[in-house]
Amino acid sequence: MAETPLEVLHRVFGYSEFRGDQAAIIDRLVSGGDAVVLMPTGGGKSLTYQIPSLLREGAGVVISPLIALMQDQVDALRAVGVRAAFLNSTQSLDERRAVEEAFAAGALDLLYVAPEGLATPRVQELLRRGTIALFAIDEAHCVSQWGHDFRPDYLWLSNLAELWPDVPRIALTATATEATHRELTERLGLGRAQHFVSSFDRPNIQYRIVPKDEVRQQLLAFIREQQELSVDAAGVPAPAAGIVYALSRATVEKTAEFLRSKGVAALPYHAGLEASVRAQTQARFLREDGIVIVATIAFGMGIDKPDVRFVAHVDLPKSVEGYYQETGRAGRDGAASVTWLAYGLADVVQQRQLIDKSPGDRAFKQRMGQHLDAMLALCETVACRRVNLLSYFGQASEPCGNCDTCLAPPVTFDGTVPAQKLLSTVVRLKRERNQQFGAGHLIDILQGKKTPRVEQYGHDGLATWAIGADLNQAQWRGVVRQLLALGLLAVSPDGYGTLLLTDASAEVLRGERRVELRQDVHETAGRASTRSARVSVAQADLPEEARGLFEALRAWRAQTAREQSVPAYVVFGDATLRAVASTRPARLEQLEGITGIGAKKLDQYGAALLEVVAATD
Ligand code: ADP
Ligand code: ZN
Repeated sequence: MAETPLEVLHRVFGYSEFRGDQAAIIDRLVSGGDAVVLMPTGGGKSLTYQIPSLLREGAGVVISPLIALMQDQVDALRAVGVRAAFLNSTQSLDERRAVEEAFAAGALDLLYVAPEGLATPRVQELLRRGTIALFAIDEAHCVSQWGHDFRPDYLWLSNLAELWPDVPRIALTATATEATHRELTERLGLGRAQHFVSSFDRPNIQYRIVPKDEVRQQLLAFIREQQELSVDAAGVPAPAAGIVYALSRATVEKTAEFLRSKGVAALPYHAGLEASVRAQTQARFLREDGIVIVATIAFGMGIDKPDVRFVAHVDLPKSVEGYYQETGRAGRDGAASVTWLAYGLADVVQQRQLIDKSPGDRAFKQRMGQHLDAMLALCETVACRRVNLLSYFGQASEPCGNCDTCLAPPVTFDGTVPAQKLLSTVVRLKRERNQQFGAGHLIDILQGKKTPRVEQYGHDGLATWAIGADLNQAQWRGVVRQLLALGLLAVSPDGYGTLLLTDASAEVLRGERRVELRQDVHETAGRASTRSARVSVAQADLPEEARGLFEALRAWRAQTAREQSVPAYVVFGDATLRAVASTRPARLEQLEGITGIGAKKLDQYGAALLEVVAATD
């Protein structure tokens, strides 16, 4: 009798039941059908192709874009007794040969390959020599040119349907708008696929977006708050691990250095660093506690680390998809996590200029502009952040109670008059052709500041001179930023940040349109922490008397992981250690049925676990 999917889930992975759509997706593939799966990070996508690969004849071929992660994925599978291997450009010829022979001989359950590898004749010949259980296309949104993360190598995957018409295919992603969903379905030839769309909500993640002022100090305050609050599953303080994203390598380097000078264990990560340094940084992040990675977006795609407690952005992301994917790396284990983004006027100007200067055609720039507009709408919303995010992904929801705007509803004010003052200054400056006047100069005029530039151009004679003394500089910058975000002001493509009117500005100037603006709240370290919801990890479900044992188990796990040079979670997840600590098993049979302990791990670690339990009061 063949095993059922549920039996495989118990025996191999040691889990008691399927989550969400997992069982239905697995049935679909086992019976030879195709599937398109949209499921948020941490939802459990991997099992949906791993279990069918174990149940069907041959090996499941997994196409995954980031080769740096393949080693860890394969390690985690081998740790539960699955015959997994990968093929990529980091291997020696001998290593590749060994994997190829194993595949051809039918000795593999899962084979991970990079998309660029799959298109080569060598790999295609190899695939014809063995039996393929299924194709799993991970991060499938990468095939979409309209999305935010296009990879040309993914286009080749449209050939799979013709080359292997009888092999079921599953495409998976954690970020897809309706447009991307449609496009990936079409490009991957998944017309007959069944679609499984889970809720995109990540209720354990708290979203915060703050106006940028001294961004490094703000970031430091945020990280200190997170690291002080962070308590591990046993209620013991443990420095929180986190990721800080910045747009440029220079900002990454400077920010990491600044944080280190303040005692934060921060490491830089970007594509300009040597591969060996990057690999080492990633390994430390996975294996050590409390590391903060400061990175460009090159870091983290598919990172499996379950206990990232915070994700911070010091620059404005280019799209909501990108933002959601990056913030989604927090809290995969389901425990409370916080995301934080600081953004300001300069971000908006810079992003608009980047789009103008980019080499793409008009349609491309228009698309990038739409991505940016959606991101700005999220930043400026006075309603629940989560409602805004989820509706972007086509999902309706109620205010969440766990984002900054829910926790401290923003105060709005009628900004029509300040907007008119600002826009009419723009009108007056426009008459001086070929001159570039950015936001700073405009604000100087409104506030009546006699700078050399004002004197040079005689701008103290303008009709709007000094009519804006009622707002301070930060408030004016907030007005400019919000008008830009609302499309009531534009940045000229001249590269100097000159501000221009838009069609919609005229309505405001004529008094036909009211402008509602949000009052920026410049948060200080103290304020931020009193306001935010307390971040505590699931310590409640561990009784006081189990905490000592939990600590001992963690120490054992750290040592074991070091000896085998794998990340700690490959040995056991926190949920498993928690269950062991609270049930205090004395015999091997009592370990069976504990979450995360399958047959292989029972065999390999069961005795050691019992020893730790016996040796700890
Ligand atoms: P995704 O790829 O969707 O981000 P993963 O496949 O990495 O998510 O799964 C996230 C975590 O949840 C992993 O630690 C995984 O082992 C665990 N998990 C997945 N399915 C189950 C299940 N049915 N029961 C218990 N844990 C599960
Ligand atoms: Zn909310």
